Amino acid sequence: MDYISTRGQDGPLGFEQALLSGLARDGGLYLPVEWPRFSSDEIAAMRGLSYADLAGRIMAPFCDGEISAAELSAMAADAYAAFDHPAIAPLVQLNDNIHILELFHGPTIAFKDYAMQFLARAFDRALAKMNQHAVILGATSGDTGSAALEAFQGRKSVDVFILFPDGRVSPVQQRQMTSVIADGAFAVSVKGDFDDCQALVKTLFNDHQFRDAVNLSAVNSINWARLMPQIVYYFSSALALGAPEQKVAFSVPTGNFGNVFAGYAAVQMGLPIERLIVASNQNDILPRFFEAGTMAREAVVPSLSPSMDIQVSSNFERLLFELLGRDGSRTASVMHDFATTGQFSLNNDVMAGAHRLFSAYRLDDAGTIAEIATTAKNDGMVLDPHSAVGLSAARRAHADGTVPTDIPIISLACAHPAKFETAVETATGEKPVLPPHMADLMTRPEQMQTVAADADAVKALVLARKRSA
Ligand SMILES: *Cc1c(COP(=O)(O)O)cnc(C)c1O
Repeated sequence: MDYISTRGQDGPLGFEQALLSGLARDGGLYLPVEWPRFSSDEIAAMRGLSYADLAGRIMAPFCDGEISAAELSAMAADAYAAFDHPAIAPLVQLNDNIHILELFHGPTIAFKDYAMQFLARAFDRALAKMNQHAVILGATSGDTGSAALEAFQGRKSVDVFILFPDGRVSPVQQRQMTSVIADGAFAVSVKGDFDDCQALVKTLFNDHQFRDAVNLSAVNSINWARLMPQIVYYFSSALALGAPEQKVAFSVPTGNFGNVFAGYAAVQMGLPIERLIVASNQNDILPRFFEAGTMAREAVVPSLSPSMDIQVSSNFERLLFELLGRDGSRTASVMHDFATTGQFSLNNDVMAGAHRLFSAYRLDDAGTIAEIATTAKNDGMVLDPHSAVGLSAARRAHADGTVPTDIPIISLACAHPAKFETAVETATGEKPVLPPHMADLMTRPEQMQTVAADADAVKALVLARKRSA
């Protein structure tokens, strides 16, 4: 399978090249040159496969000519071996027509593990083959960084440096990062906020001399290989409810539009999905866009669901490219307008295309607390704040007729409630308990680097500590 850029000036290139570059050289994002498509019979034949074998089947067309289905299954089996549920992504029935897809059974108890554990193996395989060494540099507000350090620790071909804002991540998130004590794994506390961390990463990626010298790579959700493994659980959960004969809808708590774009990919691959519900917190740039056809950036307002405190959804560019008929120069010009003016608008024809599949809902912090409380009381299920934003949207989509009540909605639970214990305790009066494999987390030894919010300081740290090829 070949990959092209959403801005039309890079590619085609193969899967492993797209994997290692992350961001296209023209500033765009990579997408497969065409969507592989499964027939109904092929989808029906996926029933009963193990999660790892299903992963191999779904991802094989995207890696055609480079990695076989059998090899992908083996990589997935290895990636998910330490997950604490045999189903990997279990589906739990909430009521007559809503099901919760639990995506918190990996080592850092948020859905980022599903992609990151696979990505680490894919990186290792590609770099080893080319006898190369890479440095992964990322900024995190919590979940991505812990998933990346956990997944890449101890891999000889890669050193990973994760910048996080000093004192601004939750205690559980911080300990998950700092308790990874392994060669080549560095949790870096930056004296600044998340925007400072992101700006530092950007500065170092734009320093081409440094970038080439250390073979810098990115694992944030703009990397196509982050999205690919996420398509698998859309298939596994829909199959569990009777796909392809039974249609389903999904409600997806959304920040960077990565997870929900994986749902879009599943639709393109032939999975019968009635509707994708985009669920946002009070940072509601996406609901405002789906209502009015204008994407307009505002300031980020901190919320109880911090992993969705985002105004610029970086993966939205992929949907934009699709909605514009895969016209790279039009996509580039819209993204240029957005960068310079902070907004862009799409015409009614293009928006009609978006509305055929997507609906969007927002929920503020008070609503989030109320949703956690009522779901705990009436349904006996304790959700984290991100998952509650998604479930509230699912309930409203049935209630207002957006999704017919005879179509089940699968609502994605993106983190374990213990990862966001303060909000959950406020709502339910009880502190959620960490799963057994993490019970001792808060007493594990810590190791971290501390730097000023200064590009030269981060550069010096990377050069001093990185291992070589
Ligand atoms: C990352 C994250 C999200 C947002 O996912 P996107 O792919 O960025 O839309 C939602 N919830 C949790 C718990 C997350 O960690």
